[in-house]
Amino acid sequence: MSNQRARRLLRSVLKLLRRAHGRRRWPGPRDPVDVLVATILSQNTSGGNSAAGFRRLRERFATWDEVADARVAAIERCIRVSGLSRRKAPRIRAILRQLRSDRGGIGLAFLAEMGPDRACEALLRFDGVGPKTALCVLMFAMGMPVFPVDTHIFRITRRLGLLPDAAAPQRAHEVLTPLIAPADRYEMHLLLIAHGRRVCRARSPQCPSCPLLPLCGFGERNAPRARARS
Ligand code: SF4
Repeated sequence: MSNQRARRLLRSVLKLLRRAHGRRRWPGPRDPVDVLVATILSQNTSGGNSAAGFRRLRERFATWDEVADARVAAIERCIRVSGLSRRKAPRIRAILRQLRSDRGGIGLAFLAEMGPDRACEALLRFDGVGPKTALCVLMFAMGMPVFPVDTHIFRITRRLGLLPDAAAPQRAHEVLTPLIAPADRYEMHLLLIAHGRRVCRARSPQCPSCPLLPLCGFGERNAPRARARS
């Protein structure tokens, strides 16, 4: 698909998703360290479990410095509910310690002075931070016009024919970001995730009732089968 066609398709997708799921607006800045830790906790788990782990961590430790000084086992106990706690706890502590030793304090405000590409590179240096996590920090904490691609977005954009079959999830943002107007990236990200959870699910996507059906080759092929099953 040409870039021009892909841009047109994505503009139509956004309009239809707004109608289906409502508008989304960036609510304003958040502490980037909070967002980084919350995003690490959200890896490979549900939103509810990662939020519970984050809440317990903040209840147990008053500051990020306290987390940096804590024993890994104490951090692990707080975030166990978020899954993979034996991997996540040492990573979180290592990042906080690294920030403190490199920057003289635990904060990521310096990212705001960089462009998105350099800020992303700075975050990717931390162990356990991949492109999706880094871009989520820049988008949610700082409102940068980036486009993190999670599993829902990857699945839907592939079904829409916007990504080649061989596309790697880790690199999908490089293809999709320039196809979406900077001002629309935050909303597109949230609406595609909402659509992936409610309609375009990994198993049994609801193609016959999906508002994107007229735009979707996968849906056209799948809808008759889905109708027959229901
Ligand atoms: Fe997903 Fe089906 Fe909708 Fe296409 S038509 S976006 S495959 S639910």
